Amino acid sequence: MSYRSLLSILDLTPGEVNQLLDAAASYLPRIEAGGFKDATLKGYSALLLFYEASTRTRSSFELAGKMLGMDTINIGAKGSSVEKGETVRDTALTLNAMHHNVVVMRHEAPDAVALFARYFDRAVLNAGSGRGQHPTQALLDALPLRQAGVLQRSKRIAIVGDLKHSRVMRSNLQLLTSFGLDVVLVAPPTLMPEGWEGLKPAYWAADPTGYGEVSWSTDFDRVLPGLDAVMMLRVQRERMGDAHITNTDEYSKLYGLSRRRLKLLPESAVILHPGPVNRGVEVGEDVFADPRCLINDQVTSGVALRSALLCWSCGKLEGTDGQA
Ligand code: ASP
Repeated sequence: MSYRSLLSILDLTPGEVNQLLDAAASYLPRIEAGGFKDATLKGYSALLLFYEASTRTRSSFELAGKMLGMDTINIGAKGSSVEKGETVRDTALTLNAMHHNVVVMRHEAPDAVALFARYFDRAVLNAGSGRGQHPTQALLDALPLRQAGVLQRSKRIAIVGDLKHSRVMRSNLQLLTSFGLDVVLVAPPTLMPEGWEGLKPAYWAADPTGYGEVSWSTDFDRVLPGLDAVMMLRVQRERMGDAHITNTDEYSKLYGLSRRRLKLLPESAVILHPGPVNRGVEVGEDVFADPRCLINDQVTSGVALRSALLCWSCGKLEGTDGQA
């Protein structure tokens, strides 16, 4: 049996990304109709190992696993042997000896999931690694973007907000530019990652043919009218050791998607946010009532995409390498 791990978007070929999106799209109607039950992964176990808080990611993986017939087990840092000082390596070796099929892992250290994967013989799915990567979020974001006709060369998307601490931005930047989208990063200088120009993988930077451009602006108003999509990001206070923004009201005035700014965004554009949302900070109430808002579609896509990904990780996704 062949297992596959997903630690970053770069683990997938463009063909595999499309296969995952196609499979997720085929799950969507069944999920929208209230869910499904099949036995694709009956006899397989998924261990959900979350060292950081999660609502959407954990519950969508669990729901997806259960719909596919898996046994799902939840472990958090609290109540596990991590509290007794067990290292990531020893946790991996222990869980490996139990022969779990899939581990879905979130950790506050950017390299912890990759470290775990070195000592675990079957599939490891990165559910968010510090400020490093969140590949399943980028994949699930791609689904509503594709359905809206935005996942194409020369379309333009802005990713706005706390980019410095955002794994969502890092994974999305890799995925979206690989589809040829131009990405405008919009943030105050204090919330831009250092060396942001280097966030594109070296081989794309060496030969940018076919990949989208990446640029940076501090002027949200100026960027808005030229967009096909805007992705708003949360101010991640839990990752801010020191002050990066002086005042939330001032931040909101400069970088929040307010009623006034909604008017600057083209009618055909779409609005994304990975959640959780700070209402009144990065998005105003009006965003949720706006027909361009796809925030709930992203959540539903999460269940569909993670269903496809669990199958892929166990070699059970039709048309992919290692199909069982
Ligand atoms: N839910 C996303 C993440 O886990 C975004 C966020 O927390 O703001 O990275």
